[in-house]
Amino acid sequence: MENSVNRRVIVIDDNDDIHTDFRKILVGTGSNSNGAARSAFLGKTAEKETEVPGFELSSATQGEQGINMVMQARRNQEPFALAFVDVRMPPGLDGIETIERLWQVQPDLQVVICTAFADYSFEEIIERLGANDNLLILKKPFEPVEVRQMASALTKKWNMRRQEHHRLLQLGEAEREAREFALSQAATNRALEEANRAAESASRAKSDFLANMSHEIRTPMNAILGYLDLLFETIDPSEEQSKFMQTVNHSGKHLLMIVDDVLDISRIEAGKLFIVKEPVSPVEISSEVVSICKREAERKGLDLKLSIGDRIPEWVRTDANRLRQILLNLIGNAIKFTSVGSVQVELHSQAASDGKSNLQFSIVDTGPGISPENQIELFEPFTQVDSSMTRNVGGTGLGLAISQRLAEALGGKVSVESELGSGSRFILSIEFEEAPSMAGALPIESTGTLPELTEPIDQPMDTLHTSILVVEDVAVNQLLIKVMLEKAGATVSVAGNGQVAVDDIQAANDEGRPFDLVLMDMQMPVLDGYEATRLLRSQGIQTPIVALTAHAMTTDRDKCMAAGCDEFITKPIDRRALLETCKRLLAPNPPAPLPSNGDSEARVEDDADSTL
Ligand code: ADP
Repeated sequence: MENSVNRRVIVIDDNDDIHTDFRKILVGTGSNSNGAARSAFLGKTAEKETEVPGFELSSATQGEQGINMVMQARRNQEPFALAFVDVRMPPGLDGIETIERLWQVQPDLQVVICTAFADYSFEEIIERLGANDNLLILKKPFEPVEVRQMASALTKKWNMRRQEHHRLLQLGEAEREAREFALSQAATNRALEEANRAAESASRAKSDFLANMSHEIRTPMNAILGYLDLLFETIDPSEEQSKFMQTVNHSGKHLLMIVDDVLDISRIEAGKLFIVKEPVSPVEISSEVVSICKREAERKGLDLKLSIGDRIPEWVRTDANRLRQILLNLIGNAIKFTSVGSVQVELHSQAASDGKSNLQFSIVDTGPGISPENQIELFEPFTQVDSSMTRNVGGTGLGLAISQRLAEALGGKVSVESELGSGSRFILSIEFEEAPSMAGALPIESTGTLPELTEPIDQPMDTLHTSILVVEDVAVNQLLIKVMLEKAGATVSVAGNGQVAVDDIQAANDEGRPFDLVLMDMQMPVLDGYEATRLLRSQGIQTPIVALTAHAMTTDRDKCMAAGCDEFITKPIDRRALLETCKRLLAPNPPAPLPSNGDSEARVEDDADSTL
């Protein structure tokens, strides 16, 4: 209704001739009214046949009838826009009463009251009807043009008011909807914020839980693997016993690997991955990882080779630990899933923009290959392609997910090219900033031969004729570390917490028999390792201190170094790493910690037997 223009007009007059005249003026049809009526009500000017606007005209001869028609039209949703009402309509209601009633029925009806000289005065009319702006007065006799202009203007006014009314309604509706939307948005935002807070707190709780769980598992594993190590040295096991012990060793290490993976992925997902960029030699780090994996490749009869391309930068700035972790994982996987053939590690470099170079570490194996559909999900956590195969070789399905996220954190990515039955090529490509030449650092030759990175592992370790204080609260660990060091020729004292350690070190200094080295567990009751180390350093005590911690994260290492420790070893303690670290610190001029992280664990061959 709001779109169609309402031109419905009702004429309420007791004179039939008037109706005929109105019809002629407003609709353009109907016979001419007789001359008497014309002269009574219309002006003398003869109306020319002009084009008339198409009004819809209705007629009522009495007020009551007009009121009913207006009422009915409203009910039919076809209201009148305008009524012409005669003042005198005997015997029924007069025009003024009729108009009052009309407005009760339809307040917005435009009304023209048609009055002759002898009727009410204007003042009387206004007094009765009030100064209503829906009312015009037409004095008889009137001209057709007056009637037509009035009809045009007033129906237009009615329609505009209607439109305005509808627009206001629409605006009101839109405003109400906008308010409701804003309210619902606010509610949604509040719900989202709430959900976000809950998710963050759950994620924090998960991360804390996993960090604690990792600590709780790593600590007893330290004892299990360490004592197994000592058992190997002190008894002469039969072949069968030796096999059992090997199995315990491998299972223990496997368990630790799983714990570390779960800890890593949860830290990464909680956004707690810290990257420490430092000068790293790509050749050295690839050689190191290859040498770590060599033993396992040999055990499986696989040919593990490293080939180094041209123009490999000598030093680049990246996070050595993270890079090592990715390479270990990719090369480890290649060896794990390949039963015959070879694993080839290729190092390529391409110049990129802004003085950066793009390094690619490709790990190519002759293993089972991965189908295109399985490649899609490969980098999602807990994805394992072939469960039967994976059951055979073990794994968590986290390695590639972790590697991909670490690569991204280093500004690179891991991709795969593979076909079932044709082996796989995993490519780690990272954009490196070339580090300035490291004056005084060991030159690394890009020759393709593996530099010798570790001391021969079977060298006897009986050169520690020194006095060492082991600060550790857990009895099994105290004994384990003590035995490891004593077997290497050291004299060992034990302190059960940081406070006892500080007292013992001060007493030993006072008595002129200072300790040569302190091995300090960092988490202890009474006074922890951080506090104890800070206290000792604040007293000017310079004895080398090696931090022992079950946390393997870089941030933990930084925390230990900030407290004043000289080295950092993670639990479970690798006997060889422990002794090498001690020897390095006890050397007359101990070398500065390595640029990577000084983490001696990573520089020792991860040989299954070396920790035993
Ligand atoms: P995990 O090795 O602990 O199972 P990863 O995330 O490292 O977990 O690997 C996910 C899966 O991808 C593996 O279970 C294996 O099915 C497949 N995969 C990874 N590397 C290779 C490879 N070099 N050759 C064939 N399949 C592989």
